[in-house]
Amino acid sequence: MNDPRRQTPRMDAVLGDARIRDASARLGESRVRAAIVLAVDRCRRGEIVPEDVPAVALASLPATATTMRRVVNATGVIVHTNLGRAPLSDAAVEAMSVASGATDVELDLETGRRGRRGRTALGALADAVPDAESVHVVNNGAAALGLAAAALGGEHGIVVARGELVEIGDGFRLPELIESFGATLREVGTTNRVVLADYEAASEGAAFILKVHPSNFVVSGFTSRVPVRDLATLGLPVVVDIGSGLLQPHPRLVDEPDAASALRAGADLVTASGDKLLGGPQCGLIMGRAELVERLRRHPLARALRVDKTTLAALEATIAGPPSRVAQALSTTPEGLLRRAEALAAVLPDRLGAVAVRTQAVVGGGGAPGVHLESAAVALPDHLARPLRTAQVPVMGHVRQGRLLLDLIAVDPGEDAAIAESVTLVSREIRA
Ligand SMILES: *Cc1c(COP(=O)(O)O)cnc(C)c1O
Repeated sequence: MNDPRRQTPRMDAVLGDARIRDASARLGESRVRAAIVLAVDRCRRGEIVPEDVPAVALASLPATATTMRRVVNATGVIVHTNLGRAPLSDAAVEAMSVASGATDVELDLETGRRGRRGRTALGALADAVPDAESVHVVNNGAAALGLAAAALGGEHGIVVARGELVEIGDGFRLPELIESFGATLREVGTTNRVVLADYEAASEGAAFILKVHPSNFVVSGFTSRVPVRDLATLGLPVVVDIGSGLLQPHPRLVDEPDAASALRAGADLVTASGDKLLGGPQCGLIMGRAELVERLRRHPLARALRVDKTTLAALEATIAGPPSRVAQALSTTPEGLLRRAEALAAVLPDRLGAVAVRTQAVVGGGGAPGVHLESAAVALPDHLARPLRTAQVPVMGHVRQGRLLLDLIAVDPGEDAAIAESVTLVSREIRA
């Protein structure tokens, strides 16, 4: 009678538990069953008592049907690639939720006929960039550039400066990306210098001139680049990949290119990412001359690079709605951040010795290289870095000179309380 195997609850019985039924409805039955199997095994081995099987199974389940976790970005990098780049605003999240079911993304409700896909998002983008005759949206910045290469006859040669052949991250290199779309490159100039005559000499019979913003590095010293205004005099279409997606100039990021300025300087087409400085969902923006945009839009690859309805909704909300979280981070002041850091340090357990310190943050994610933004952080002992990363609500800081800095520039003020809670919990666990 004392053999634990005889008392091990049966799957059916556990599945009948009200809390388990609720979890199955939210998370899917197969995941819940797998958790029960593991808990039942532990019971069979005598590690837990039969009454605890449902609770142990429940405790091992994720909070939602995705096991991706919300993370508080206290790294001091506003657009952090490994944390999913731009965090979406509440307005964008709400818009995605509206569009997630059946939606009029491609239907005109007045006439009951097919409508231009994503016309409200495209309209918001067009309104935000009046210098563009037409706009289109694809899956990401790389897709926008690739589509331009494929649709504008890149096989006839794309003229590009050697100093702009960028590796964008994770081993992906723009020259290889462009060539994978069937285009050939005509490289001009040297790593540090290129002049208009270099472009001119390579232009004969070429498809277009490409100018790429070196968005993740800085070349300084004996350098020379050719501005868009001059490239536009050579009689070929000029495509400018500005990378980070600023639509208009930003006062705090004076050297960062923006779509409006590039178009006004004579660019025929501008491409950019939606989830860097624009602060929206992952997508690729294409803005410029109507005839060129239409060629891209009608190219067969456009269908393969088509963007999702929820992305279109989030993009519209980002552009036409309240300021994005990236914009909010960029509008923080060092004094305001320092006050927040002091308030946060004050509520943390005394023995951690938390103090508010001034820091230098960066834009990150391939934007504004070399630009430092005055910020503030809470400094903590560095042994908290790992436990905070793996906490119930993970907080990602960065370690500098033996201290863990929780930088507040990219943290929504509404998340300060979550940081306080995670730090307090983690420090308690470490002591226990
Ligand atoms: C980031 C970047 C890309 C790639 O954009 P994704 O949205 O990551 O595909 C291309 N060009 C430049 C200049 C960039 O900064």
